[in-house]
Amino acid sequence: MSATILDGKTVANALQEDIAQRVEQFKSKTGITPCLAAVLVGEDPASQVYVRNKERACGKVGMASELFRMHEDISQEELLDLVRRLNKDDKVSGILVQLPLPKHLDASEVLDAIDPKKDVDCFHPSNVGLLSQGRPNFLPCTPHGVVQILKHFNLPTAGKNVCILGRSDIVGKPLALMLMQRTSETCGSDYANATVTVCHSRTPNLKELTSQADILVAAIGVPKFVTAEMVKPGAVVVDVGINRTDEGLCGDVDYDALLEVAGAVTPVPGGVGRLTVTMLMENTLKAATLQAK
Ligand code: NDP
Repeated sequence: MSATILDGKTVANALQEDIAQRVEQFKSKTGITPCLAAVLVGEDPASQVYVRNKERACGKVGMASELFRMHEDISQEELLDLVRRLNKDDKVSGILVQLPLPKHLDASEVLDAIDPKKDVDCFHPSNVGLLSQGRPNFLPCTPHGVVQILKHFNLPTAGKNVCILGRSDIVGKPLALMLMQRTSETCGSDYANATVTVCHSRTPNLKELTSQADILVAAIGVPKFVTAEMVKPGAVVVDVGINRTDEGLCGDVDYDALLEVAGAVTPVPGGVGRLTVTMLMENTLKAATLQAK
């Protein structure tokens, strides 16, 4: 048996074409070009790559982007002032503060200061609250990307056992919230209604839980953590992990070994990462639409 490869590039390209068309329609209707403001503090190499990819994606779908490069010694108050300025700027549709921030800064306070209508990462407590109630303003980018990959390849979640490794506020927790709802905002009820198990570093008998999953999502940040023995034969495996190792980039699953066991698997790179950026574009258009109302 050889698993189907769930190529994120194909999914991202299809979605980006659709977003580009809607951006064009929005521009001709309102005269407004949606604009993403990205705030990058310090010189973290991975963050620089992510921000560059986001700017490039904006250009590809016909949106504007503005990059605010701040010195790593910026004070909390200066950073909050910048966020407040961007909140008030009518030209800015969405605000993204690239994480992680240097240790002396309080990331929660900065993210909480972003206007919820411009919160394209969906980190603001009011947006997280709306998401948990099943009436989201924005869908968080990486979890939304996971759902879009499943939808594209016709792999519904309704009635399935989904096991998520990782409970972060960025990936694991919001993905669990989305998949346990009665319906998905963008993909319908077939891409919700899952029975979700969320695992973390204090979960005993991990293998017992993962091997019962019809759909297994790995988002822990440990290279090749998920081995073939942990996966039910024929299961769908979504690898969110992006790990930099001496041998290059790899995910949280042992991809080569899983090809023989899983029914379908996402590659790293070229899997979920592509979708994260794409869903950020979707949210920036949504933000521009909310503000134009
Ligand atoms: P965090 O470090 O915030 O969270 C990791 C989670 O995994 C925690 O809940 C932690 O448990 C759990 N965990 C860690 N080790 C183990 C273990 N041995 N067994 C079980 N659970 C474990 O990471 P993120 O959610 O931000 O990111 C996860 C991965 O996804 C990273 O590789 C990151 O680079 C990648 N990523 C990829 C994106 C993409 O676009 N493809 C976007 C965002 C992230 P506990 O809570 O108990 O500490």
